[in-house]
Amino acid sequence: MRIHADREVCVAAGMCALTAPDLFDQDEDDGRVIVLRSDLTDHDVEAAHEAVELCPSGALRITG
Ligand code: SF4
Repeated sequence: MRIHADREVCVAAGMCALTAPDLFDQDEDDGRVIVLRSDLTDHDVEAAHEAVELCPSGALRITG
């Protein structure tokens, strides 16, 4: 499974980086999401789903 982030949709709320800091960071300049690792391990899946649910803009999705 992979996680995708649409930086055009992201509103820089930062919930993803708080929820799954292994997977996401925020850009120092505009605060928008940076995906640190898009290939999800079994260990990441729960946090990734939580981040998708908590993201207020719908910028995150999981495929695969
Ligand atoms: S939670 Fe959503 S809107 Fe907020 S920084 Fe992450 S991707 Fe962007």
